[in-house]
Amino acid sequence: MFEASRAKALNQLNNFIDNNLVEYSKLRNFDFGPEKRSNTSCLSPYITHGIINEQEVIYKALNKFSFSKNEKFIQEVLWRTYWKGWLELRPNVWTDYLTELNQIKSEFQNNKNYLSAINGKTNIDCFNEWVKELKENNYLHNHTRMWFASIWIFTLELPWQLGAEFFMQHLYDGDAASNTLGWRWVAGIQTQGKHYLASEWNIRKFTNNRFQNFKLNENAPPKVSEKSYQIVKQNFTNPQNFEEKNLLIFENNLSFEITDFKDKNFKKIYLVSNKNDYRSIKLSEKLVKFKSLLIEDQEQRLKDQSIDCQIINIGEIKNIENCCGLYPTVGENLDFLNSNNLKIDFLYRNLDQLSWQYCNKGFFNFKNYIPKIIQKFI
Ligand SMILES: Cc1cc2nc3c(=O)[nH]c(=O)nc-3n(C[C@H](O)[C@H](O)[C@H](O)COP(=O)(O)OP(=O)(O)OC[C@H]3O[C@@H](n4cnc5c(N)ncnc54)[C@H](O)[C@@H]3O)c2cc1C
Repeated sequence: MFEASRAKALNQLNNFIDNNLVEYSKLRNFDFGPEKRSNTSCLSPYITHGIINEQEVIYKALNKFSFSKNEKFIQEVLWRTYWKGWLELRPNVWTDYLTELNQIKSEFQNNKNYLSAINGKTNIDCFNEWVKELKENNYLHNHTRMWFASIWIFTLELPWQLGAEFFMQHLYDGDAASNTLGWRWVAGIQTQGKHYLASEWNIRKFTNNRFQNFKLNENAPPKVSEKSYQIVKQNFTNPQNFEEKNLLIFENNLSFEITDFKDKNFKKIYLVSNKNDYRSIKLSEKLVKFKSLLIEDQEQRLKDQSIDCQIINIGEIKNIENCCGLYPTVGENLDFLNSNNLKIDFLYRNLDQLSWQYCNKGFFNFKNYIPKIIQKFI
């Protein structure tokens, strides 16, 4: 479904805007099955890797329809930016998640329920289908992710941390913020006391009756977490002198030519590949391959513009002197830099610098700032 190139991503974007954006808000909650994915954009694997960015998606959407006609779609695109900012202000949510995951993993490695869940062998057919789809297509519809997570937590009674790991291992759009916070939200610990309970009628309706005869726990109480997270004050200011330095680009910004820094002079660009050696969550082979192809596609585009560039393994960063880096955001790449005490001057995207200050509260508060964000950047 997803070819690893910017050219393909742009095709997909243009095609969606021209043909399907018009019905997005009406149809977006339906999962018609893996063969019929045109009612949402399926752009997340590309946006996550910076192959295309939020600005160009919103810009194209607004060229087609007015803001009010596009409101739902734009809100969804910026949910991602919001989750990112929310986690940036509370990075311990991610580090605590990895610590908890580590503990739980050894406890559950031989657990029968867990093994039948990840092998798609439960007695819930729709769930088994989604496991298969996740592994084969490396993508699930948003509503399906919600049902999946809810069934995992409340019917199969498995820890959300393991489900979030399973998603990260396979999703082409796997992202520390959207994924961890999405699972926390379903469990009822992101908005304390409010959980998402999947129900049979809802699944039947929004899958067009593709699934029948399954029983879910529709009365479970929300999960409870004793941890609460205060905002950690952060500084997202860009350094003054970064030109003529070497530039590191991580897997979240793989289209240098559309970044805010495209007109700056860098000595050389290093595209940083992070395979499984340095990851806490080991990715599936297909996902590692997808990331490698996206990095190679960026390398080719830079070479076509005669920009000096090279792909390096994240372990080699230590050998690169005088460098700065496009900010990798909270997640595995930043963890590597921090745990190896590698101090790098980060360059932040203007969109993030503006948006993240509004991520201190809930999304409903953030939503009020969307027109302001759009006015500034689109
Ligand atoms: C438990 C759970 C885990 C998730 N894990 C991830 C993840 O690892 N990575 C990821 O990118 N998204 C994640 N999401 C959010 C969402 O499911 C996907 O972004 C969406 O399904 C992508 O499909 P699309 O591109 O067709 O979306 P569209 O409906 O076409 O939306 C356009 C874009 O808006 C953004 N977006 C849409 N919905 C959301 C949302 N709820 N949260 C954040 N951004 C959104 C995405 O970038 C998406 O490409 C998760 C949601 C849940 C409930």
